[in-house]
Amino acid sequence: MLRRSLLLFLLPLLVLLTPIVPRTHAQRPPLIAIQAGHWQTGAYPEEFFWLRTSTGAVAGGVREVDLNIDIAHRIAEYLRSWGNEAYVLPATVSPSYHADAFVAIHSDGHANKEARGFKVATYWRDWVATDTLVREIVDEYGRQTGLPEDWRITANMRGYYAFNSGLYEHTIAEDTPGAIVEMGFLSNAIDRRFMIGNRELVARAIAQGIARFLAARPAEGWPVPPLLPRGDIVEVLHDRVPLYPGPSEEGAHVDLASRRERYAVMERRTGWARLFFYSGKEAWIQDWQTKQLVVP
Ligand SMILES: [Zn+2]
Repeated sequence: MLRRSLLLFLLPLLVLLTPIVPRTHAQRPPLIAIQAGHWQTGAYPEEFFWLRTSTGAVAGGVREVDLNIDIAHRIAEYLRSWGNEAYVLPATVSPSYHADAFVAIHSDGHANKEARGFKVATYWRDWVATDTLVREIVDEYGRQTGLPEDWRITANMRGYYAFNSGLYEHTIAEDTPGAIVEMGFLSNAIDRRFMIGNRELVARAIAQGIARFLAARPAEGWPVPPLLPRGDIVEVLHDRVPLYPGPSEEGAHVDLASRRERYAVMERRTGWARLFFYSGKEAWIQDWQTKQLVVP
C-alpha cells in the first residue's frame, strides 16, 4: 500500500522530468572507428616524427597499407549495415578521439617467411572492456578464417602509439576501448594468399567480433578504466642513452633511449629518473637533471 501511494506521488514527477532526460544519448547508435594502419603516414604530427618512415610491410607485390585500407572500409561497411555508425580513420587520430570501439587494422611482415598467423592486442593495462574486445575478435576471426593464432604479441602492439594517451596527444580517449589486429603475415605466402583472396570473409569476421563486443556491453556501461601512468613528459637530448633496470649502472643496460622520443618521468632519485616509454616498458636513466633530458 505504501508503495502504491508512493508511486502515485512519483508518477506526475516522472512525467514532468521525462522531457529533460536527454534521449539522443540512449538512442545514438554505437560509434566505431576502424583505423587503416599506415594510411597517410606523411601527415603524422611532430610527436610521431619517428613513425613517418614506417610504411608497413611489403611482400609479393602487395603493400600492407593498401590491404589495410581495403579491409578497413569493408569492416566499416558491415558495421553500418548492422545499424552502427562507423568511420575509417587514417594513421593519425584526432586528440582524445572518442568512440565505443577503436580497432586498428594491420598486416604483419617478418624476415622469416615461415612466420604466420594473426594476433589481436590491446593496451597493457587491465580493463574488462578491452579484454572483451580482444577476446571477441580473436574468437570470430580465428573460427571463421581458420588462420593460426600467433602468440608473439610485441611490446609495440601493447603500447601502440594511438592508445598511448599517457605520452601523446593524438590518441584515442582514455575511456575508449581500443585493439590492434594483425590479420596475418603478408610475408608468408599462405597467409597472404588467404587475406588477398578472402577479403570479404576477413572483414566480416572482424566486424562480427566487434559486433559481439558491442552486444556484450553491460546496461550500465563498461566500468571506468584504470588510469594510465602519468608523469612529466620529457625528451632525451642524445641518441643511444643507456637505460638500466634499476637506479644503478651495475649490470647491462636493458634499452637505449633515442633523441626526441617521449618519456614520462615516474619517479626521481638522486641522479636518476625512472622512465616510462612508448612500448609500455619502464627503465631508469642516469644523470637526468643535467645532460640527458629536456622537458618539451
Ligand atoms: Zn602495420
